[in-house]
Amino acid sequence: MAVDEFGLIARYFSGRGASRPDVQLGIGDDCALLQPHAGSLLAVTTDTLIAGVHFPHDDPPHAIGHKAVAVNLSDLAAMGADPAWISLAISLPSPQPDWLQRFAQGVDEICRYHDVALVGGDTTRGPLAITITAHGWVPEGKALKRSGARPGDGIYVSGTLGEAAAGLALVQQRLELAKAEREPLLQRLRYPTPRVSLGRELRGMASAAIDISDGLLADLGHILRASAVDADIHLELLPAVALADQQQALDWALAGGDDYELCFTVPAELRGRLETVVARLGLPVAYIGDVTHKGLGRLSLRHHGERVEHQLRPYNHFPES
Ligand code: ADP
Ligand code: MG
Repeated sequence: MAVDEFGLIARYFSGRGASRPDVQLGIGDDCALLQPHAGSLLAVTTDTLIAGVHFPHDDPPHAIGHKAVAVNLSDLAAMGADPAWISLAISLPSPQPDWLQRFAQGVDEICRYHDVALVGGDTTRGPLAITITAHGWVPEGKALKRSGARPGDGIYVSGTLGEAAAGLALVQQRLELAKAEREPLLQRLRYPTPRVSLGRELRGMASAAIDISDGLLADLGHILRASAVDADIHLELLPAVALADQQQALDWALAGGDDYELCFTVPAELRGRLETVVARLGLPVAYIGDVTHKGLGRLSLRHHGERVEHQLRPYNHFPES
């Protein structure tokens, strides 16, 4: 990049995030040098956010920085991993100091909160897009995979579902609400909270876990297929966004996407332990249904026991038709 790429990196990205003893060498050389943790497996994940696809071009840069990190930490949380390091590749149409300063601030704050170091990256000119790779550690044998759900397990979700989808509808003027009601929904869209502490606590307790990025139906579907089981969900138990239009709220809770809550399964005999952990974390966790039997990954929706049909399609970047 002509406008001194190296000055820009030094100014906006060096020294961001937490400083950690396992970073021998961070930003500034050809590679970062990182210390492995004995007895743990390295969990690695990458997510890209593209302006105009994943966020509007005029979103606050601080929020873009936060969200780019948050969606990656959410994947680590869903594996039960402790976040450690990220690298950040950014492509920018033109380097604007004010924008970069706020973006880097957003990255810095969430990284420090979760004790994550920014150890490297890449800076190029192009349409606005951010790709982050996050690394975390999970004790060997303790990772929360999608494939471990068994008949008899309860199904749980953290937080509230559909709030980010309602926030997006506000931004796109498909939903109108008073200012006091708008703000928390916009906040959930722009500042998702990766459930890192919950993920850590679920190690050795949850039989399967996933983070909800494409909507509950799609993401729980991944657990069910990976585990080769069928399940029932009770719609009256869903912690759906509070809206006057309850059908809309339910649709967004099931298929809205961008929630970044955790969906997980817990064997019945560990339910008491889950309740203890949840009370300590202070994060709401709702029981929403059960894994019923071995199968092909079929999900049945029930409302007070009655079967209901659903035709909701999750967002897909490469739809078949
Ligand atoms: P190279 O050409 O050897 O790949 P670069 O010139 O791309 O190195 O980057 C110089 C240093 O700055 C490297 O340590 C790289 O990891 C880091 N870096 C570049 N861009 C970013 C960024 N956006 N965020 C964090 N570190 C970055
Ligand atoms: Mg490079």
